[in-house]
Amino acid sequence: MDYDILILGGGIIGCAVAYELSKYNLNIALIEKDYDVADDISFINTAVIYDGSETSDDFMAKLENTGRNLIEKACKKFNVPYKKTGALRIASKNNQKNKLDIMYNIAKKRGIDGVHIIENDDEAIQKIEPNLNIKIDKALYSENIAVISPYDLAISYAEVAADNGVNFRLEELVIDIKNISNGFKVTTNKNKFSCKVVINTIDNEIVEDKLECNYKNMNYILFENKMENKLNTILIDDIDDSTFIINNPLISEGNLIGIKSDHMLTLEEGIDMAKNIFPQARKEFVSNIFNEVCDKDIIVIDDSNFDKGYIKVTGNHYGKITMAPAIAVMIKDKLKHSLNVTRKKDYIDKRRDVYRFNDMSNEERNEIISLDKRYGNIVCSCNNVSEGEIVDCIRRPLGARTVEGVKRRTGVGLGTCNGSYCNIKIIKILAREMNKNILDIVEDSKDSNILSSRIKEFREM
Ligand SMILES: Cc1cc2nc3c(=O)[nH]c(=O)nc-3n(C[C@H](O)[C@H](O)[C@H](O)COP(=O)(O)OP(=O)(O)OC[C@H]3O[C@@H](n4cnc5c(N)ncnc54)[C@H](O)[C@@H]3O)c2cc1C
Repeated sequence: MDYDILILGGGIIGCAVAYELSKYNLNIALIEKDYDVADDISFINTAVIYDGSETSDDFMAKLENTGRNLIEKACKKFNVPYKKTGALRIASKNNQKNKLDIMYNIAKKRGIDGVHIIENDDEAIQKIEPNLNIKIDKALYSENIAVISPYDLAISYAEVAADNGVNFRLEELVIDIKNISNGFKVTTNKNKFSCKVVINTIDNEIVEDKLECNYKNMNYILFENKMENKLNTILIDDIDDSTFIINNPLISEGNLIGIKSDHMLTLEEGIDMAKNIFPQARKEFVSNIFNEVCDKDIIVIDDSNFDKGYIKVTGNHYGKITMAPAIAVMIKDKLKHSLNVTRKKDYIDKRRDVYRFNDMSNEERNEIISLDKRYGNIVCSCNNVSEGEIVDCIRRPLGARTVEGVKRRTGVGLGTCNGSYCNIKIIKILAREMNKNILDIVEDSKDSNILSSRIKEFREM
């Protein structure tokens, strides 16, 4: 099996690279070990799209600022929700206030427009965030910052790439990469491939930097939509050099408060910290909590073996989603020149339409139900998701094959009931569409079966 290019890993980076390269006359495959692409992106449906004004590293800033512009265009093209919220950075502890000026000056030096210092101007702050209930005498405001649904973006890149000929090889684990005379031999648990170029995105650990890593906990508290006067702007409070609190307004309403600290916080500790920026935070509005470990924020695009045909994208960064399309374009430009490739004449830069029942007018709903009555059968009453949408997400290119895949694509089961009413319905639809036994339907990966056995034999289940 010969390819021009093998992309290893189907995270947001792999999907964005596949999308960029699918525009050219190249024979490409992407190898991913899981059942689905972009499976490692956090389940919460919001990612912040940064503008390069918050990082001290000039190269990361450039990737963020370029990536932000590309993401805004891609979201428009693929109909992915993109909410420009703006971001207010405050320093409730006085010792961090000079940091705001430093960041402002760096942003100016980098030529990032739309970044302002606001000082002793309650009216300006109120205009940006009318629901802010704390006194702020100084803030750094960036108009550019937005939130998106990262999984939606990744799946859009992948679907368009697949429609334009990229071969997505899911459930294949890369076990060996060998340099051969005119390229590489890549061995998976199922196949052996040869190719001219390998783009490796599977290994995010920068080994040589490991000892310097200062691992931190990112504690997340998800507040549901019922709260009054919730904040609609991203708000960041730098408490000290290694602790901050961030409010992320979600794409689907509700708020996610993230607290970076040196240990895992209890819910009570987290809520106390959240009150710094959001005094109305209360336990009864919390719908979920989770914790992630962050490490050194650095991305390396290692092209030191480019003459042999090998590029590796490695490292972790809180803005890696923002950077993904910029990294993909850099890789495409490099390959375009060295492989001397031509653009496809029949390239289709469009994602197949997705119909979201929740976002439709009654007129549109009646129209789609008259074409397919499954759009009139609501499976998830929290988020108003219909059977028609679930069937479509399974039947699309790179369709969902797991319960989590269906949830991520449609939002089914992600409402306040956390899927307690609709999980079994999703399982049944997946089994029917894939012609499988319901006992074989998995949550997200191999062996994550949900139903273990029947307890009684009925004629139907
Ligand atoms: C808590 C947290 C919050 C974040 N928030 C934001 C944000 O607000 N904004 C933002 O821009 N970014 C954010 N990020 C960054 C971002 O979510 C991730 O860094 C990004 O999704 C990583 O993408 P990736 O493609 O590099 O890696 P991955 O998603 O890890 O992709 C690598 C893929 O390779 C596959 N793989 C691994 N080994 C093999 C193998 N041997 N064979 C085949 N396949 C293999 C994996 O299954 C995986 O799918 C956040 C990150 C974290 C941790």
